[in-house]
Amino acid sequence: MILRIAIPTPLRRIFDYKATQTTLHFIPGLRVKVPFGKKEVIGLILEVTDKSDFPVEKLKSIIECLDTQPLLPPHVFELALWAAEYYQYPVGEVLSSLFPSLIRKGREINRVPFAPTLALPREYTGEGINKLNDEQAIVVESMKKNLAHFNVSLLQGVTGSGKTEVYLSLLDMVIAQGKQALILVPEIGLTPQTVERFEKRFGANIIGVYHSGLTEKAKFKTWCAMLDGSISIIIGTRSAVFAPLSNLGIIIIDECHDASFKQWEGFKYHARDTAVRRAQLENIPIMLGSATPSLETLLNVEQTRYQLFSLHNRAGNALMPKYHLVDLKKQNLIHGFAPSVLQHIRKHLSNGNQVLVFLNRRGFAPVLLCHECGHITECARCNSPMTIHQSANELRCHHCGKTSHLPKKCTQCQSEQFIQVGIGTERIEHFFETEFSNYVIERVDRDTTRKKDSLTRKLSAIHSGKAQLLIGTQMLTKGHHFPNVTLVVVLDADGGLYSADFRATERLAQLLIQVAGRAGREEKPGEVLIQTHHPDNILLQHLIHEGYGAFAKQALQDREAAQLPPYSYFVLFRAESLNETEAKVFLSEIKTILLHYVKEVSLLGPAIAPIEKRDGRYRWQLLLSSKKRAALQHLLKKSLPEIELLKSQRKIRWSIDVDPMDVL
Ligand code: ADP
Ligand code: ZN
Ligand code: ZN
Repeated sequence: MILRIAIPTPLRRIFDYKATQTTLHFIPGLRVKVPFGKKEVIGLILEVTDKSDFPVEKLKSIIECLDTQPLLPPHVFELALWAAEYYQYPVGEVLSSLFPSLIRKGREINRVPFAPTLALPREYTGEGINKLNDEQAIVVESMKKNLAHFNVSLLQGVTGSGKTEVYLSLLDMVIAQGKQALILVPEIGLTPQTVERFEKRFGANIIGVYHSGLTEKAKFKTWCAMLDGSISIIIGTRSAVFAPLSNLGIIIIDECHDASFKQWEGFKYHARDTAVRRAQLENIPIMLGSATPSLETLLNVEQTRYQLFSLHNRAGNALMPKYHLVDLKKQNLIHGFAPSVLQHIRKHLSNGNQVLVFLNRRGFAPVLLCHECGHITECARCNSPMTIHQSANELRCHHCGKTSHLPKKCTQCQSEQFIQVGIGTERIEHFFETEFSNYVIERVDRDTTRKKDSLTRKLSAIHSGKAQLLIGTQMLTKGHHFPNVTLVVVLDADGGLYSADFRATERLAQLLIQVAGRAGREEKPGEVLIQTHHPDNILLQHLIHEGYGAFAKQALQDREAAQLPPYSYFVLFRAESLNETEAKVFLSEIKTILLHYVKEVSLLGPAIAPIEKRDGRYRWQLLLSSKKRAALQHLLKKSLPEIELLKSQRKIRWSIDVDPMDVL
């Protein structure tokens, strides 16, 4: 008997071994320990057969088999194989990356016989249940028909419209059928409130949480509970899309536009798209929820592949916030603020309300400039300016993390005169401490929330009203519910309007709507001030006067005219080398191979990446685009075996990104 085994190695192939213990019942999905080179490794059986392309006498035997039952339900196994092929990542690495590390290392799994929880009929405490409003009720009613088969729906609801309430009602129905539910969210750590809401409704004992922040032991425990069916609801981040649930009844993706659903390193899958594939394999419904769906998702709606449900109004009595563009041209800015904006802040504060200032840039200032000679302090490894972090008395590179002391003298001219150019969240805090000294300030960004529990503490200071003036990066925009915030200020909208990345405007629009969505979520009406030098920008105009839908329509037209995604598909080869030319040479060789097989695909590059150097490596890229996904997949399949043999790859790092989310 021959076992075909997936082994975690960068080699894109499967390995054949002889099965020795013939008394065992070998089936796909079991872990086996095998000799591999000079080591012993743990792999997963993919196939049991009696043939091999290699001479059988040369095959090694497995050392032992670790399981009697497969570690993945059949659909999840199939999903992983699909993902490995679609995202062009070695199948052994993909499979091993799905498991908690204790399972990867061979820990024995104690499994009770599969027993899906039939937790219902449950008795609700009645706590936290709202009577659905008309719009919500229509969605839930229509979804009743959709529960029995595969379909994708988009729940597009303005921020605070009660999407979560709809999910809860859908779960009621699914759980009542004795099935399981998978809920994917961007970042659990940021919104502990969400998990609490589910626990209140369904009881913590049937809910599992799965994300990278868990300890290895907790991951292992949850994994086993998912396998044996003792959990009915799993709430997790992107990796939970592969959760080993065998009785799944629905998948829900909250904030489905969020960039964190795409994995950036290694196995570069998109959890949203993978989830849709999973729903299809399992023949179950999937619902994507967002106030600001991606253009990809909206095009799917337009082409009627996805069904659209809309929630136009905020739940309860809350009104949508009012937007104003603040033209910064020729204004005397005070630490980045227009004087009128500062007056607004003061007014809202003195009315006893909270104000949120949003700036997606950490640190004190992004550039340190010598006033005498103009020299800018750059990171030597990335050739980009280092950010000043004043309270830490440091310069930090936001690309590679390198730090150094704030210099006393310019390295070029010995001058001691420096100018700190630009504004970061730390600088705003510093300015507010004198400007609004009567109020309590909370700054929420990655620098102020490094310590365990510091985020929770800050959020509760905001909720209790102890803090009135909130400064934050993206962290503060996601999903939070701050009823007393009546004014949101966006310090700088311009960066997103003119970026090298074609998705920048889409991201800016999503961010503006999401951050604005923190304003006026209950009785008090909200106001949003957006500072920009380009108040006439047509996308901004659409966004603030007509809303995200109008913005998206315009943006889709622009994308279509330029034949950019979602009207075409991209695959990006990235390469980086210590030496200035090697990465480029390697990509040129790839291009030569690709040109042999190319059909209905255009190749662009190799070109130097917009971020030219990072962490000491020069970065190049080669872009493949096509109107047909299949053409790209075909091309990659044909050419990868040859690309893998290229000798020049030894000195460089390279990767393939299918459906890249950025081209930086
Ligand atoms: P979203 O997920 O769209 O941001 P939520 O479901 O969190 O919206 O709802 C926003 C707020 O409105 C929450 O405080 C929620 O409890 C409340 N809410 C939602 N639906 C209703 C309803 N039908 N009646 C009253 N309040 C509701
Ligand atoms: Zn100088
Ligand atoms: Zn750097």
